Amino acid sequence: MSGFLFSDIIFGPVKSRRLGVSLGINLLPTEQKFCSFNCIYCECGWNPENIKKDIKLPGRQEIYELLEKKLIELKNINLIPDAFTFAGNGEPTIHPEFDLIVKDTIALRNKYFPDAKTTVLSNASMIHKDKTFEALKLVDKNILKLDTGSQEQFERICQAHAKMQIEDLVDYLCKFHGELIIQTLFLRGEYNGYIIDNTTDYEVGLWLEHLKKITPKSVMIYSIDRSTPAKNLEKISREELNKIADKVHKIGLKTEVY
Ligand code: SF4
Repeated sequence: MSGFLFSDIIFGPVKSRRLGVSLGINLLPTEQKFCSFNCIYCECGWNPENIKKDIKLPGRQEIYELLEKKLIELKNINLIPDAFTFAGNGEPTIHPEFDLIVKDTIALRNKYFPDAKTTVLSNASMIHKDKTFEALKLVDKNILKLDTGSQEQFERICQAHAKMQIEDLVDYLCKFHGELIIQTLFLRGEYNGYIIDNTTDYEVGLWLEHLKKITPKSVMIYSIDRSTPAKNLEKISREELNKIADKVHKIGLKTEVY
């Protein structure tokens, strides 16, 4: 599988335009991607063809110890992170102990760097589960993916493993009552003989209707930045992203283009 993988459970801190100095927490395997989606633009590449049922995820205790060790190191060199970010080689919320790990992380954050923000980058595929939903409500920056307006483009672009309906996803996102940030990647191209395009007036119109219902705190808009597993995909220009952002502003929501 081609693609960029994080080789550590705790990684960074890295300087991020969106999050500042961000310390990464990867709850997925370090040797392969493991995600409930298989987005055609994913920087980690494709999911392996046969995802092992007994896939080994880092344990809660191991994560706690590695994180605390790293925080002590950062304290000793006076490097203060702005964010503790759950991200990495796939979807963090599929870890069965995600809720407990979030609580551990908040406790360690409070002990060592109380001003840092906890952040989750998630594809929102598990928010129908109560314990995932409750855990996400605890984090400071709950950044959830909504890449398309239509079901058709959602299936083509995100390739969710379980059959998911975009309307259901939107309904679950509404349950955060605005305590979330939406992130959307725009792209065009062709994959498997299908047209890929979430930038048409029709698609953006549907997506804006979803946003009106969800009322997120803000919307992060971006396009492809690194090589993608599917070829024939086109990066959307900054100018075009700005035009989409203007439409978001017009419905009264804050938007940032990256
Ligand atoms: S949700 Fe994120 S990690 Fe999963 S396939 Fe899509 S881009 Fe990759």
